[in-house]
Amino acid sequence: MQIEQDLARLDGEYLKTLFHERLSDRMSALAGGVWRYKELIHPELPLEQIVTKYEGNTGLYRSTSGAVYAGARGVWLKALSENPSGSFKDNGMTASVSHGRWLGMNRFACSSTGNTSASLAMYAAIAGGEAYVYLPEEGVAASKIRQTIAYGGKLVRFKGTYDDGLAYLEQHAEELGMYVCNSVNPLRIEGQKSIVFEIAQYMNWELPDWIVLPGGALSNTAALGKGLEELKTLGLIQKVPRVAVVQAEGASPFHRMVEQRAESLVACEKPKTEASALNIGNPPSWRKALRTLAFTDGVTVSVTDEQIFAAKAVIDRSGIGCEPASAASLAGLKQLTASGIVDREETAVCLLTGNLLKDLDALQRYEQEVFAEHLFG
Ligand SMILES: *Cc1c(COP(=O)(O)O)cnc(C)c1O
Repeated sequence: MQIEQDLARLDGEYLKTLFHERLSDRMSALAGGVWRYKELIHPELPLEQIVTKYEGNTGLYRSTSGAVYAGARGVWLKALSENPSGSFKDNGMTASVSHGRWLGMNRFACSSTGNTSASLAMYAAIAGGEAYVYLPEEGVAASKIRQTIAYGGKLVRFKGTYDDGLAYLEQHAEELGMYVCNSVNPLRIEGQKSIVFEIAQYMNWELPDWIVLPGGALSNTAALGKGLEELKTLGLIQKVPRVAVVQAEGASPFHRMVEQRAESLVACEKPKTEASALNIGNPPSWRKALRTLAFTDGVTVSVTDEQIFAAKAVIDRSGIGCEPASAASLAGLKQLTASGIVDREETAVCLLTGNLLKDLDALQRYEQEVFAEHLFG
């Protein structure tokens, strides 16, 4: 299911002015980096129903070390990691929880690899409701679980994967009286479109040649493509950047599908990557992600966990930092310049999806390896 915005009634130039004026707003419901674009996200929602923590408004940093590392002329890092719960899930979650509250729901639910649960628990608390989060028993970063509990989220642990949790909720949520806030909820996609709206606005409506992002459930890929289509239709941008979706090699069913020109996605039964936010074998948004590739002349690529951690070191040491899954974007860009798909004269924005402190276990393991290398290597 997908929401179609009625763009014909909107004037691009007027919106530009409106969005610009709202940049000086700090306290209203439209002060955040999602609801600033309310006309394109959820025009009907009454202002008093907005559940916001002024999410979005995240930094866009020019990265010299990233450009040198990836071998591209210019690289910007979009630090979605600076969102209030520490990941880009907030961009979409504010929209789904606001909509759910408007519908009169107060029991919210999700399946999660960790960040969705933290984000949902945070917004449910602000909305005065309850969050039920379905988390696999294994492979979720401990800090994300602690964060979810701290916000008052109720944990349901189960043997299985993210994919199993989602399948369970799709079957049972209604009888349990729960409002599902996974990205199968179209409001999540609408909210996440704000990511590309914000990048475009910060860059004065001229986007770089490429936007590179990690792909797990592919909700962000879907949102990016939908957002770009709308910006183009409204005349807010002239040139559409190409989108590159980067998957972790151990959980790359979408990349494999595209590479093999297959008709449909074959799920990866046992997804396995240290970048836990990407540990998804059956991405629900693959059809919408295909549309993004078609609209943007996009590509996919996969990278190993080693490549992910090497890129993460570059991002961390530049002072910006991110969780492992996020670094897949820069690692993917490097791979794409090496193979000649991205020209070295081109420019790219890499999305950093989650915060450095989100996965302390991975940090610790990595630190030990790096130090071992420095001392003995
Ligand atoms: C959710 C998540 C992803 C994957 O995004 P999808 O929309 O599921 O493809 C990547 N990185 C981090 C940190 C995430 O939390």
